[in-house]
Amino acid sequence: MDNIKYFDHAATTAVSKEVLEAMLPYFSTEYGNASSMYSISRRARKAIEVARQKVAQAINAKPNEIYFTSGGSESDNLAIKGIAYANKNKGNHIITSKIEHHAVLETCENLEEEGFEVTYLDVDDKGFVHLDELKKAIKPNTILITIMFANNEIGTIEPIKEIGKIARDNNIYFHTDCVQAIGNVKIDVQDMNIDSLSMSGHKLYGPKGIGVLYVKDGIEFKKLQNGGHQENNKRAGTENVPGIVGMGKAIEIAYRDFEKNERHLKQLRDFFFSEIEKRVPNIKINGDRQKRLPGNCNVSFAKVDAEELLMKLDKKGICASAGSACSTGTTEISHVLKAIGLLDKTALGTLRLTFGKENTIEDVEFLVKAIEEIVKLIRNK
Ligand SMILES: *Cc1c(COP(=O)(O)O)cnc(C)c1O
Repeated sequence: MDNIKYFDHAATTAVSKEVLEAMLPYFSTEYGNASSMYSISRRARKAIEVARQKVAQAINAKPNEIYFTSGGSESDNLAIKGIAYANKNKGNHIITSKIEHHAVLETCENLEEEGFEVTYLDVDDKGFVHLDELKKAIKPNTILITIMFANNEIGTIEPIKEIGKIARDNNIYFHTDCVQAIGNVKIDVQDMNIDSLSMSGHKLYGPKGIGVLYVKDGIEFKKLQNGGHQENNKRAGTENVPGIVGMGKAIEIAYRDFEKNERHLKQLRDFFFSEIEKRVPNIKINGDRQKRLPGNCNVSFAKVDAEELLMKLDKKGICASAGSACSTGTTEISHVLKAIGLLDKTALGTLRLTFGKENTIEDVEFLVKAIEEIVKLIRNK
């Protein structure tokens, strides 16, 4: 359907043309298993190492610190469980926040069943973790802090460099879920004291089913998948060569076009906020107005059921999200909106719009007009 208006880029993105073209040969003519010895395999190996180099360069890491995985969820699991298991002789306490993605929260809950102890930090009404609370939560047996770079629902960007410094000063490893941040915020693992981070291809105009885990040189982590010795013996399984090539290309493009995309997304976001505030009464903008992802908008509409709003938007070809994509299909209230203190009824009237590079000001104008009409309709019933 051509007239789809897509405003759900935090859920997933379309693979960009350049990325797709880079990947295509590795599905067909360049099909070699990267572990074999003949020339088509050596070319696959080379393509993987070029991609690894690109990813490493983007975050100021070394290529041997980059591991390819099946996505953001696997990277979070591998980092958190891997570091926890490998370092349990040093302690069994982990600190995270209440607004993490389920890939982090459920991993931490799983570790609690395995005898680890987890502190889930509160956030303030904008979604920020407070550094003094983090410091207070640190105990002699704390081995890992895992706090996301930017939130997938409300877009809040956490004080990562400061968190990294606290971790470093206390000799604690620091992992951060960068799935939403990568390509939207500049990340420097050395400057920011980041020991480990996760990325995903499909949130970045790359393919689904590919992710990256960065783990700083010298940090022990236990592998979770046994078999062959791929990825420096940390993740068994024949490499997803087309996916890896796509991930490398997606990162390269994101950095090449960084300033242009950032400017464009911020313009769409700020236009949406100012128009929606002007045209729709009784709304609440969630998250921070400045320290938020450039393409993220999150708004609560009083006396509106977001599910109904979504359905009516869908009839106009508009794709948006209520809370996070993982909770659609259920009426479960978003843990993020709960953590920033929204009442249940406010949370249930909350819409997330996440803009992408192909959206235009005219698209956003169309969106605002549609929301304005539908909200009026629902409220007047
Ligand atoms: C999408 C997302 C993930 C999961 O990534 P997948 O590649 O879909 O497994 C993890 N964390 C955050 C913040 C995300 O937005």
